[in-house]
Amino acid sequence: MAPVRNPLAADCLTKGTLLPSSTEVESILRSAPQPLPLRICSGGTTSRCTEDQHWTLDLSDGHRTLVLNNDHTSVRLGAGLTMGEIQAELAIHRRMIPTGLSGLPGAGFLITGGMGPLSRSLGLAIDHIEGIRGIWGNGHRFRITRPGDALLEHSPEHMEWRGLLGAALFLGVVQELDLQTTPLLSVEILQGCVTPQELEALILEAEGFPNGISLQWCWGARLEVMLVARSDDRLALQILRHQREARKLSQPLYTHLSGIHQLPALGAMSLALTDEAPVHQEVLGLLGPRWSDQSQALITALGVAMANRPHHRCTIACQQLGGAVSQQPCNSSSFIHRQAEWKPWITASWLPGDRSGRQASLGWLEQVRDCLHPLCPGVHLAQLHDHLPWHARELEQAFGSWLPHLRDLKQRLDPNGVLPML
Ligand SMILES: Cc1cc2nc3c(=O)[nH]c(=O)nc-3n(C[C@H](O)[C@H](O)[C@H](O)COP(=O)(O)OP(=O)(O)OC[C@H]3O[C@@H](n4cnc5c(N)ncnc54)[C@H](O)[C@@H]3O)c2cc1C
Repeated sequence: MAPVRNPLAADCLTKGTLLPSSTEVESILRSAPQPLPLRICSGGTTSRCTEDQHWTLDLSDGHRTLVLNNDHTSVRLGAGLTMGEIQAELAIHRRMIPTGLSGLPGAGFLITGGMGPLSRSLGLAIDHIEGIRGIWGNGHRFRITRPGDALLEHSPEHMEWRGLLGAALFLGVVQELDLQTTPLLSVEILQGCVTPQELEALILEAEGFPNGISLQWCWGARLEVMLVARSDDRLALQILRHQREARKLSQPLYTHLSGIHQLPALGAMSLALTDEAPVHQEVLGLLGPRWSDQSQALITALGVAMANRPHHRCTIACQQLGGAVSQQPCNSSSFIHRQAEWKPWITASWLPGDRSGRQASLGWLEQVRDCLHPLCPGVHLAQLHDHLPWHARELEQAFGSWLPHLRDLKQRLDPNGVLPML
């Protein structure tokens, strides 16, 4: 059963689905004198895990390894598992990895530098990867472990490792990953809806938060906020409880969870839940440093954009970074925006088959992107847009001066362009 969960991807007219075992991927990548037109699908939550007239290489069936080591401090994961499946299994052993706001995404979350509400204290998912196995686009098998500090920065092994952490989807098919696990952390969360003025105040306060607490928000029909605090961090809990008293939240909800695998969906309060009809969507994630006193003008501008959104399922959401994310060197992975404090993401929505609605929504997404650009000049390439005119621009914004080196790697490891273009 194909896992294509993204409605736009599910509606593509593909050539068919390949469900290879872990040993068959190599022969598929090497199979023909002409490379097969392929798209790779792990969790199937993005619009580009399938494409018209392409085969879908679906890893969800044949790549389901989940093996913990004896003391449960590391885990080997197959690329066909979702983050929810992984966290549910790890939670049984009181362990976790730092995943994001939802259990739905698959290995794409791990390899694109995924971040979550605990990233301010635990870092990005890629910071916990210790080893990666898979097949380069050229059909050769690879097995790489985290290089030691003694390895030269420009050695081929270091360059390949750095390329895989955050840009693997351009270079190879990742089949298995080894990750360090951490003890399961319980969290307390505060949710509710706020006015734009309350959000401005909250953003300013959040920029001074300790690393044990993070702010995320989603602006749809209403403006929803979610604060997530580690239960083992007294200062973070004090701040959370203060926010519960001080903020004028409508529909406030205060919950204790045994781990982030139990997080409620961000957006459930801000979207009209009665409207469940599938929509087609494209999502763009941006990255930028602290907004400080410029957040007021930004939120005002975003309010205007929200009032003019072409479809009611167009949203602007945001999650907080900083802390442990910024403590890793920029050259340790392809995620170069280590100093980012905020990751806003813009979702353009339209009805399936509505060509002018699609155009209007993508135009709106570009306007919001341009509005955010001065404060968020970076891109988090968690969703590909290699079918849209601004793909070249997003590559520049995602990888900056590392991009030419990535292109050299691509030339060597995927010379026929079997994987998405870079
Ligand atoms: C509900 C929801 C919540 C989310 N929350 C967060 C969040 O909190 N933080 C965050 O950072 N992101 C978040 N995301 C974004 C998500 O993590 C990324 O879009 C991620 O890339 C999706 O992974 P996937 O395996 O489901 O994607 P897929 O659609 O299967 O694949 C995504 C892309 O990666 C490539 N790819 C997939 N698997 C492989 C592989 N094994 N080897 C090589 N290339 C591969 C494919 O070419 C495809 O283009 C969220 C997404 C959703 C839908």
